[in-house]
Amino acid sequence: MAELDARRFLTALKEMGIESYFFDRKSMPTLTTLRQKTLQCTKCSLAQTRMHVVFGEGSNKARLVFVGEAPGEEEDIQGRPFVGKAGKLLDQMIGRIALRREEVYICNVLKCRPPNNRDPEPEEIEACKDYLLLQLELIDPKIICTLGRHAYNTLFNVDERITKIRGTLTEFKGTQLLPTYHPSFLLRNQTRISEAWEDMERLKQLLKE
Ligand code: URA
Repeated sequence: MAELDARRFLTALKEMGIESYFFDRKSMPTLTTLRQKTLQCTKCSLAQTRMHVVFGEGSNKARLVFVGEAPGEEEDIQGRPFVGKAGKLLDQMIGRIALRREEVYICNVLKCRPPNNRDPEPEEIEACKDYLLLQLELIDPKIICTLGRHAYNTLFNVDERITKIRGTLTEFKGTQLLPTYHPSFLLRNQTRISEAWEDMERLKQLLKE
């Protein structure tokens, strides 16, 4: 179905009171076409201030996907996720699971940097959320690890504190999901690092199952 036809079709369904519709897999985009589409996104005002869209990177067949919050300055410059100070700590966290960065997939809720690294606005999350949902569906990992409260709250449409949810294994659309601290939070709150290491050990065990 051409994109315009699909949009009309969905509008027609909405008018009939049907809020969602699942296309069969053959009509789903691939990760490559989704990336191309995302790189041209102008759905929110961050398109005017970004340097690069940071789609995400790693193995398309990753069994573990990390979801962060939004690109920071260095990520915006390079167009790659978690390449600054927080990224160095994320690399160590991945190392604790005995994996390499290329073996997992890393992405964010927002694909564009909010100015001065402020928190994502609800309308920015809303505009960007479908990209993340499609990414997760296309990669179809064994486990999702959310980093910080924004990734968890976006996926579950809730407003939880990270200290409450961290380390509690749950499921997102049938996929195991473990929330842990955001590496930037860990850099500011180093006494919490042992809990993050516990979470990485848990991920390591879950991936063995
Ligand atoms: N923080 C994030 O949440 N994502 C990045 O890509 C970098 C820092």
